[in-house]
Amino acid sequence: MARRDRPRLGLTANFLYADPDRPLFRGKTLQYYEERMSLSMWRGGGLPIPVPELKDPHALELFVEEIDGLVLAGGADVCPRSYGEEPMADQWEGDRQRDDYERALVEHCLRRGVPVLGLCRGIQLLNVALGGSLFQDIGTQRPDALVHRDWYRYDELGHDVRVDPQSWIGRIYGGATQLAVNSIHHQALKQTAEGLTETAWAPDGIIEAVEQIDEDRWVVGVQWHPEWLEAERTAAGGEAEGWADGGKIFEGFVQECRRRRDRA
Ligand code: MN
Repeated sequence: MARRDRPRLGLTANFLYADPDRPLFRGKTLQYYEERMSLSMWRGGGLPIPVPELKDPHALELFVEEIDGLVLAGGADVCPRSYGEEPMADQWEGDRQRDDYERALVEHCLRRGVPVLGLCRGIQLLNVALGGSLFQDIGTQRPDALVHRDWYRYDELGHDVRVDPQSWIGRIYGGATQLAVNSIHHQALKQTAEGLTETAWAPDGIIEAVEQIDEDRWVVGVQWHPEWLEAERTAAGGEAEGWADGGKIFEGFVQECRRRRDRA
């Protein structure tokens, strides 16, 4: 790989807010990312660059000028107030500060034509940023749905998704119409934002992937965690044998970022 060939991929932060009872970094806010995410971005051919919350909207705009793609990471719930609802329960309050920071980044990326890949919380944030809404809790609002998160099985829990074979997700998996994926979420898309096309669904109808792709815009969201579905886990004999190899999503995203960067 030629020097400086790796597209620069921004990775959004998780926040651990200041806590006076925490012994380490007492009273300090931490911005962090999960290890497999940065590994998957690197192994897919990208240069992972954490995007800090810089407490300055203009700084985020300048930051976006330095990157060729943005990955919206999983993590905390989206705050229902971000899509015009009150939380149905205190524990579904989500992280409004993170919502605001990520929404600003998405807006700057869309304005500059920087591709955006949203994973788990990321597909939800994308949908909200573009005007859609969410189920605050699948189990409460869609009681007939499958269990999409199990704290005991965590990333061992999964289900099949039906895929539109013409979609980006379908095409990177060779025109697949069905994939086995992990499932670690209790929120999901309710009203899909105008402009987004649904491209994958769980057997209960829960939306598992969306996209909007044209010459000026590239956004894809998936409800699962491809960063935890590496080839060695999904190959024959792996513990997640038969599940979709998550690496393909990162490789495909990096190619798209490179193509759009070099075209500019
Ligand atoms: Mn699911």
